[in-house]
Amino acid sequence: MAIDVDALLARVPTGLLIGGTWRDASDGGTYDVENPATGETIARLASGTSDDARAALDAACEVQGEWAATPARERSNILRRAFDLVQERKEEFATLMTLEMGKPLAEARGEVVYGGEFLRWFSEEAVRDYGRYAPTPEGNLRMLTVRKPVGPCLLITPWNFPLAMGTRKVAPAVAAGCTMVLKPARLTPLTSQYFAQTMLDAGLPAGVLNVVSGASASAISNPIMEDSRLRKVSFTGSTEVGKQLMAKAAENVLRTSMELGGNAPFIVFEDADLDDAVAGAMGAKMRNTGEACTAANRFLVHESVAEEFGRKFAAKISELTMGNGLDEKTTCGPLVEAKALKSISELVDDATERGAKVLVGGKAGEGAGYFYEPTVLADVPSDARVITEEIFGPVAPIVTFSTEEEAMKLANATEFGLASYVYTQDTSRMFRVSDHLDFGLMGFNAGVISNAAAPFGGVKQSGLGREGGAEGLDEYTTIQYIGIKDPYAGH
Ligand code: NAP
Repeated sequence: MAIDVDALLARVPTGLLIGGTWRDASDGGTYDVENPATGETIARLASGTSDDARAALDAACEVQGEWAATPARERSNILRRAFDLVQERKEEFATLMTLEMGKPLAEARGEVVYGGEFLRWFSEEAVRDYGRYAPTPEGNLRMLTVRKPVGPCLLITPWNFPLAMGTRKVAPAVAAGCTMVLKPARLTPLTSQYFAQTMLDAGLPAGVLNVVSGASASAISNPIMEDSRLRKVSFTGSTEVGKQLMAKAAENVLRTSMELGGNAPFIVFEDADLDDAVAGAMGAKMRNTGEACTAANRFLVHESVAEEFGRKFAAKISELTMGNGLDEKTTCGPLVEAKALKSISELVDDATERGAKVLVGGKAGEGAGYFYEPTVLADVPSDARVITEEIFGPVAPIVTFSTEEEAMKLANATEFGLASYVYTQDTSRMFRVSDHLDFGLMGFNAGVISNAAAPFGGVKQSGLGREGGAEGLDEYTTIQYIGIKDPYAGH
C-alpha cells in the first residue's frame, strides 16, 4: 500500500524530546530538512540550543537511578514491543529514510529489518547481563562481580543509516539500564524523531531517551560533554569528528565508543568465482549508493583476472537505475547533499587525471537532486585520492596486484581498519589472509556482513569498541567487584 507522504510527515514529531515531552527549542529556532532527490524542503524541526542540551541531560540524569533499578525483564519487554512496532511501521520508516536520505525504498526496507533487529537482539541480551562468583586463588576472599549501567550517555549518529545507527546504540543502552541524550544527524533527523516516538509508544519511561537535534552539533554536544554527570559518549561518524570528541571526552574521562570512517579493500584472488565476486561487489560497493562506512573503497584484483572482473562488474553496474528512491524502479539513489556530489566528482577527476580509465559512469547526473552515475574505474594508481580517501559514493576503483603478499600490503596501507572483503575459493588462503589483514570486519566470499548478532567495529583510526553481538552490551555496562571475606579464611 502506497504511503501518503504528507500524512506521514505530519505524524513525525518536530520538537525536541526532553523528559518525555516534545517541545520547541528554548529560543524558538528551527532548521529545515531537505529531500536530496529533489532539493525540496520536506520538514522544519526545532533546532536545539545549548540550554536545551543541558535540559535533556538533566532529564536523563533525573531518572537514571530509577531506570537502572528497573528489572531487566521490563527493559527487555519494552525493547521487544519496540521491535514489533518498528515492523508494523516498516513502510513508514522506510519512506522517511528514503525521503530524507535518498536511498531506494527496497534498501530502506532492508534497513528497517537490519535496524529493527538490534531491538530484538538486545531485548534478548538484556536478561543475560551476568556477573560472576568465584574464590580468589589464595582462598582468602570470595569475588563477586556485577555489571551495572554506565550511566547517562550521549549518543551521536550519522545520516547514512538513520534508523540502524540509532537502534544500534539505543537498544543496548536501554538493555543495560542507561539513560540517554540522542543527537541525530542534521541531514536525517526525521527517522530518529519517529523512532523516539516509537520507543515512547513501546512504553519507555519519560526521560530515559531524550532527543535533541539542531543546526549546530557542537552547541548540543559540548555542554553535555562538559557536564561531569555524563558517563559515556557513543559516536558514529567521521574519524575527524571522532578524534575531536575523544579529546573532549578525556576532560571528564568518559567511556567512549567510536565507530568511525573506513577504507575497505575488496580483494579478488585469481582463484575466486568471478561471478560470485561481482555479485558481492555490487552489495559491498553499491548498497546505500556507496555511502556506508563498510563500503568497498578499493578493489584489489589479481592481474590475471582484473580485465574480466572489471568488464563483468561494469556490465552489472550499468544495469542500475538511478533516480528518486521513492520510485520502486530505482536501484541507485542520490548522494545526501551537494557537498558530497562535489567531493565525488573531484575524486574521480583526480583519478582520471592520473591515468585511470572510466569503464562506466564517471559524471554527475543531470537535473535536480545530487546524483552521481555509478562508476567503475580501471588502472587506478594506488596513490590516487580515490584509493587513499574514503569515497562515500557509487565509485569503484580497481587496482591490480600480482602476489598475495602484495595484496596484503596494499590492503593494509591505510590508517583505517573497519571492513575488508576477500574472494577466494582456497580456505587455507582465507585463514592466512585473515591473520594478516588489519581490519575489525572481514567478509569471506560475502559482500554484506552486518548483523545485529555480530560484533561490529574497527581497528586503527576506524574506532574503538563494538556494536551488536554480546559485546554491544558491554559498551554500556561497567563492572563492580565486591571482595567478601572467605568464611574459611583465618583472621
Ligand atoms: P560526521 O560529519 O562526523 O557526523 C556524524 C555526527 O556527528 C552527526 O550527528 C553530526 O552532526 C555530528 N557532529 C559533527 N560535528 C560535530 C562536532 N564538532 N561535535 C559533535 N558532533 C558533531 O559524519 P557523517 O558525514 O554524518 O557520516 C559519515 C561518516 O560516518 C563516514 O566517515 C563513515 O565512514 C562514518 N560511519 C561510520 C560507521 C561505523 O560504524 N564505523 C557507520 C556509519 C558511518 P551534524 O549532522 O549536525 O553535523
